[in-house]
This record gives sequence, C-alpha cells and structure tokens, in this order.
Amino acid sequence: MTQEREAQLLASVPDKLFIAGKWVESSSGKKLDVYDPATGKTIKSIADGTADDAQKAMDAAADAQDSWAATAPRERSDLLRRAFNLLAERAEDFALLMTIEMGKPLSEAMAEVKYGNEFLRWFSEEAVRIQGRYGSNPEGTGMMIVTQRPVGPCYLITPWNFPLAMATRKIGPALAAGCTSVVKPASLTPLTTLAFAKLLEDAGLPAGVVNVITSSSSSSVSKPIFADPRLRKLSFTGSTSVGISLLKQAADRVLRTSMELGGNAPFVVFDDADLDKAVEGAMVAKFRNIGQACTAGNRFIVHEAVADEFAKKVAERVKAFKVGRGTEEGVTIGPLVDQDAVDKVGSLVNDAVGRGAKLLTGGSAIEGEGTFYEPTVISDVKPGSDILTEEIFGPVLAITTFKEEAEAVKLANATDFGLIGYVYTQDLARGQRMIDSIETGMMGLNVGVASNAAAPFGGVKLSGLGREGGFEGIHEYLSTKYTMTPKP
Ligand code: NAP
Repeated sequence: MTQEREAQLLASVPDKLFIAGKWVESSSGKKLDVYDPATGKTIKSIADGTADDAQKAMDAAADAQDSWAATAPRERSDLLRRAFNLLAERAEDFALLMTIEMGKPLSEAMAEVKYGNEFLRWFSEEAVRIQGRYGSNPEGTGMMIVTQRPVGPCYLITPWNFPLAMATRKIGPALAAGCTSVVKPASLTPLTTLAFAKLLEDAGLPAGVVNVITSSSSSSVSKPIFADPRLRKLSFTGSTSVGISLLKQAADRVLRTSMELGGNAPFVVFDDADLDKAVEGAMVAKFRNIGQACTAGNRFIVHEAVADEFAKKVAERVKAFKVGRGTEEGVTIGPLVDQDAVDKVGSLVNDAVGRGAKLLTGGSAIEGEGTFYEPTVISDVKPGSDILTEEIFGPVLAITTFKEEAEAVKLANATDFGLIGYVYTQDLARGQRMIDSIETGMMGLNVGVASNAAAPFGGVKLSGLGREGGFEGIHEYLSTKYTMTPKP
C-alpha cells in the first residue's frame, strides 16, 4: 500500500521543464535521474535542461514582466493565497515527496511544508502593503515622492536541504512584489519544485511568471541567464563557495543580489542555564534535518562546570534516536543526501577524534543501502580541529568548553560565518550582552530554532547578504524610486 502510494505520488509529479506556462521536454532530449538517498535507487527521470532551454525560460520571464508588474497588488495577493490553500490541502503529498527525494523524516517534512507555506501566506499579506511616501523637502521648496517598483526578472537558485521552503521563501516575495522569475532547484531534489510549479499553475499563475529549469549542469544553464541584460536580480541559497562565484558573475551586470549562504552556528550554554532546556534546544538545533541545515548548531560551546553533564545528557538522547528511511514510523534520523556528505562528515569526526576529542556515541558511516551516518556526539574537541571551522552538515554534535563569558564570545565569533547563534542562560542581562556581541544576523536566546516567515532571515560575514521573510523580505524584490517635484 505504501509503495503504491509512493508510486502514484511520483507519477503525478511533472517530469518536464516549466517554461512560459507549458511543460516541455529538454531540447537535448536527455534525462536527469533523481534518486532516494535512503535506498540509492532512482525514483524518477526528468528533463535535463540545457543552456537553450534556460534562454527560453529567461525569455518567458522577461516577456511576462511588464504585465505581471502591472497586475493589481490584490490580484497578486489572491494568487498567493490560493497557492497557500492548495499547499495546505496537498501538505501530505509534498511532505512525502520531500522525504523520498531528500531523506528527512516525514514529521520534519510536514513541518517544512507548514513553514514553507507560511511564506505564501505572509507574502500574500505583504503584496498589498507595498508603500511609498510623499512629503516636503527640508527647504520647503519642493515635494519628494518615493515609490517602490518591482526589481524585474529574477533568477532564483535553491539548495537541496529544504526543497520547498527555500523555494517559497523566494518565489513568494518575488510574486508579491511583481517580479517574474526563472527558478533553478538543486539537481538532487528537483521534484518538489516541479510539483510546486504545478500547484502554482493550478492556483492560476499566468504563463511565464514563474519558470522552472532542472538540469544536471547548473553552470551551463546559468550562463545565458546571467548574460541576459534583462535579468535584474539573483537570489541564491546554497554554499558560500558557489555563492562567491555567482556574486562575481552577478557583478558583471551589477545585479541586485540576495545571498543565503553557509553557517557555522555557535551554541553557547552557560552554567546558569536550565540544562534540560538547553539539551532539548540542542537536539533541535543540531539534529533537525539530519544536521543538514544552515542554521544547525555547529559548535557547542559549554561552560566547563556543566559540560560533562550536558555531554552525558545529549549522548543519552542521541543513543535513543531511530535511524532509517524517513517514511518509517518513529524514524528521527534519515540518510545524508549523498556519499560525499557521508565522507565529509566522517573525515571531520576522524580529524577531531585524532586530535584528542572523546567519542561518546556514533562515529561511523552505516554500511548497506543508502547514505547513512550514525548520530554522533563528541566532547573535549581540541582547538585547531577542522570541525570547529567547517560546516559539518551532518548529525554530529561537537562540544568544546569555556570558563569566562568573554572567552565564550571570542570562541563564538572565531569563524568567518555569521548566520545564527544560540545562547542558553537564565541571566537576562547576560543574554542581552551575548545578543550584542555575537556577530550573526540572527540569534536564538533559550530556543533551538528561530526561523519564522514573519522574521528577517539572513546572515553577516560569509553567511550572506540580504534578508528573506519578515517586512524586509519583499524589499529584496523592490527598488526604490525617488521623484522631485516643485511645491504646488
Ligand atoms: P550548493 O552546492 O552551493 O548548491 C546550491 C544551488 O546552487 C543548487 O541549486 C546547485 O545546483 C546550484 N549551483 C551549484 N553550482 C552552481 C553554479 N556554478 N552555477 C549556478 N548554480 C550552481 O549548496 P547545497 O549543497 O545545495 O546546499 C547546502 C549549502 O546551502 C550549505 O552550505 C548550507 O548552509 C547552505 N544553505 C544556506 C541557507 C541560508 O538560508 N543561509 C539555507 C539552506 C542552505 P546543483 O546542485 O544542481 O549543481
């Protein structure tokens, strides 16, 4: 029965490119295989887009731009609201699809559908609140008019780790602001985006307003899009290394850019923290999405007075995790996305243990079908270990210790990244000092997850530029226009 349901669901997902409101084959006729990381088996073959297809998608987005920008904000809002309702109706299908193509446990996939859908609701509300201003200049000689215009056609590139939410967090505000787009999902998880494009079509999306290109060669499909003088904006979520290379390409045409890049979050636990709550927060901050979140706690910096107890408690919790295919009842840890991810996590753990860290549980890849790595806890991680400077992106909780508050701040900021930081303390003044001194775009104070559609998501340093969500999110897709006129 379950297999039948999965087969029906996969058969219902489009396998073509979505260009100018039509589902079309790749011009090369080639296929891209998508597989289930829990089994390693191919689940569907879809169109493998080419540079020619990408140019057509860009043409469609450019052609649709003026008419989409001219639609009434209420019309754009209503489209997003219809999409929100449809996604709520199809939540279980989307969750199952993400679990199959990406590996996250089904309950987490459901949570992503809810979170991702909130961007549609939020931006349906924001679409009708785009405002300007009109007022006298300070000299009293003229009137200043400030308006907001859609930026224009956008190129939206999304990663594999949150296949739905990373798409809605970009497509939602682009649609609300009056921008058309070409969307390029990760080749590892393109099915969710194709299903979402179908949902937008069902919600009444006009032709060309959103176009989707799937491809095994992201650089070749990106080339004509970046070279097109009609492109106005790049919004990218992914690794910092790819982000930097795309920023360089965007510089040639001085594109507006939003970059949501990698993280290396500190998770600081003071000796005055409620330790059980800190352990609870650590479980979510670290193991949600099998550790494959840009917001994942990467370095657990724990006061030496409570470090042993914290380590013991988290290890106990981690030993009780159930590892398996995310569709199975009770599974809390699914597979990593591919073998490269397993190898990377393994080498970080081996390096840390080789330098003297204590392995409390886990520490090995799991042999057999799929790409699994044991949920792992290591303590006494020594300075200089690679795991402290690199994004782990896997189910490994690494603990170091500190003595003084100033040392905790120094350790937390000892990274080129600055997406989010977590602090656990019951001392409010200390919490406020930590919020001020940790160099990140976001903070969680006594919580292990902070993301919310109504909040500005984004980082500083090598973690990126711009913000997604919140009141700020729509402004990434708007440009400000100022007009001077004489005093009437
Ligand atoms: P990635 O390898 O950088 O890929 C991200 C996207 O860029 C994918 O669609 C990928 O397509 C595409 N891409 C890769 N090379 C490209 C090129 N030369 N030209 C155009 N597009 C290209 O990152 P990932 O491994 O998918 O995602 C994990 C990373 O994303 C982590 O570092 C994580 O922290 C970060 N992330 C950040 C946030 C945030 O909001 N800050 C959220 C989620 C994830 P292909 O895969 O098909 O090549």
